Amino acid sequence: MDLSSIRSQISDLDARLLSLLREREEAVRQVLEAKDQEGRPLRDSTREEDMLEELIRKGRELGLEGHYVTRIFQEIIDHSLRTQQRLLQDKVNPRGAPVRRVAFQGQEGAYSHLAACKHFASHGEEVSIQGYGTLDEVLEAVSEGAADFGILPVENTFAGSINEVYDLLNRTDLAVVGEEVLEIQSSLVALEDVPLSRIRRIYSHPMALNQCTRFLARMPHVQREYYADTALAMQKIRDDQDLSQAAIGPEEAARIYGLKVLERNISDQAETYTRFLVVAKEPVQVDPRVPARTSLILSVPSRPGSLLKALHVFHDHNVNLTKLESRPKPGSPFDYLFYVDFEGNIASEHIQEMLDQLRSVTGYLKVLGSYPSEMRPRTTPSTRAFLQAGAAEVQVPSNGNGSAAANKTAPKKKPKSYRLASRETKAEDTVIHVQGVEIGGPEFVMMAGPCSVENRDQILACARHVKESGGHVLRGGCFKPRTSPYSFQGLGYEGLELLVEAGRTYGLPVITEVLTTEDVRPVAEYADILQIGARNMQNFSLLKECGKVDRPVMLKRGLSASIEEFLNAAEYILAQGNHQVILCERGIRTFETHTRNTLDLGAIPLLKQMTHLPIVVDPSHAAGKRDLVMPLALAAHAVGPHGMIVEIHPEPEKALSDGPQALLFPMFTDLMRQIYGGQTQPA
Ligand code: PEP
Ligand code: MN
Repeated sequence: MDLSSIRSQISDLDARLLSLLREREEAVRQVLEAKDQEGRPLRDSTREEDMLEELIRKGRELGLEGHYVTRIFQEIIDHSLRTQQRLLQDKVNPRGAPVRRVAFQGQEGAYSHLAACKHFASHGEEVSIQGYGTLDEVLEAVSEGAADFGILPVENTFAGSINEVYDLLNRTDLAVVGEEVLEIQSSLVALEDVPLSRIRRIYSHPMALNQCTRFLARMPHVQREYYADTALAMQKIRDDQDLSQAAIGPEEAARIYGLKVLERNISDQAETYTRFLVVAKEPVQVDPRVPARTSLILSVPSRPGSLLKALHVFHDHNVNLTKLESRPKPGSPFDYLFYVDFEGNIASEHIQEMLDQLRSVTGYLKVLGSYPSEMRPRTTPSTRAFLQAGAAEVQVPSNGNGSAAANKTAPKKKPKSYRLASRETKAEDTVIHVQGVEIGGPEFVMMAGPCSVENRDQILACARHVKESGGHVLRGGCFKPRTSPYSFQGLGYEGLELLVEAGRTYGLPVITEVLTTEDVRPVAEYADILQIGARNMQNFSLLKECGKVDRPVMLKRGLSASIEEFLNAAEYILAQGNHQVILCERGIRTFETHTRNTLDLGAIPLLKQMTHLPIVVDPSHAAGKRDLVMPLALAAHAVGPHGMIVEIHPEPEKALSDGPQALLFPMFTDLMRQIYGGQTQPA
């Protein structure tokens, strides 16, 4: 077959996919009607998980990767929830005029415009979206009835709150009736596909330029100019017809202005989102089955403890605060207004009662409105699902983490040297959250990957295998502590880029070792967990530097460190302010030489008594030999650590470091099955 006929076959398949998606959407509408009549809740997370697990199983039978199926269906399920949420909302808030007029600040192609398109997408043709010069004008348009809705950016996950909007919200009488979350993807665009070296000037919104500092650092001779919005910058590029000019902004806008993308995804941070609020003249009712969020503004008297009193009201009502922002109070220097978002619906009695109590402890309280929440947690399949999608009867074995109260044998005397790490200071287990993975909680966490990141194919293959076997975290050394200076020292930042790319491709957080204090901050910007290796356990300046970043740190036990020394090393990190420390038992040096190290299994239950910090075990560096890794791993799992880190490699005989101890891929899958109890054949 020639290329063009294969392409037309692909187009036909895509057209079929589209019509199936359309049919599915229709079925979703009917499901909602049925749910509505039976008074069923909108979300049934057990059913969603089962559904996803079944899809992974069926996908695998067809030869599709579990991760691929998961990603596609997460999007489909989310869309279905979004559709049902909208339909329910339309029932509770019957609309008046057929056309909805939406006001945003900026011009066509600006992020606010894209957010408005996304938010009102389900209303199809019946929406007219109109740009205004300023945010004030947007609010005015809604107040005066020239528009039914206004959309305002309130926060960006990179730059933080957009203060101007918070101040406007206090002045306006409009109600908040919705929110939208838009992923910000920045691209460098120009008139034509010219080489980067020809670009002399780059235009964009200040926030967009600030988000791309690393990319821009590669173009030191380029002049940067601020524009009021990214679309305006693109319009200038189009109008000037000057090939030496470029703009930064969304690809969708580039399409509108007929520009070419020179480089995609140029932000410093891989994922950046902007959250928008939708305002209208009248508040909306949120159906009780739709998860709601509420925004309000309050001030408290300037007295000790008054803010705490107000916050206590939320706690007493078991209400989750999702945002707390302070803004200067106009006309009263050093007095503040607090902007609060929380999960809950003002129509519910429970929230009404909470607000009444809140009124009694605040000087000022203005409810901006309740609206359907757009931050829906994604359905995620369990580890078991990956190993054996469908077999619900198999229980994931508990790793035996008792509650703190179970640790009766903890030493009585308060150890002074490691105060913060001690159970005496903090009785409950520390649980560390990394991109949806909980380390230190009830689920046993598996981290796996190669000793060293060697090349793109190698790390991608490892990531894929870790994910498809149900693993949770991807490991990969980029800066390697080698006994000999002539051995492979790692790919450094180049390796880190590959590791992060592989982790992101398969939705796995990544862990990597840092060797020097200078590398801590830059590595922490990319890696999800920092590792301090055994050889550096008492590198106190490294420990301190890791204590200054807000990133989990996995500290490996030194080759000849006592448990006391191990905990004191952790204390160095904790004492600097970083409380997210994971301990790792990886074997210690004894007189025995047949194994690389001696895995000190007793240390694990002992550490669990002495400290609240999560403990993981590394059987790979203890064993040193592949064949010993599996039995040691199973034994280690039995003594109750919170997780494990193992080395794997697609071709261990070619590995640049620690090949002899790397598990072959099938061995790793086997280990996963033995630990998580799966029996069936994964992909
Ligand atoms: C590693 O995890 O690659 C490593 C070097 O481990 P350790 O510090 O335990 O030797
Ligand atoms: Mn290693």
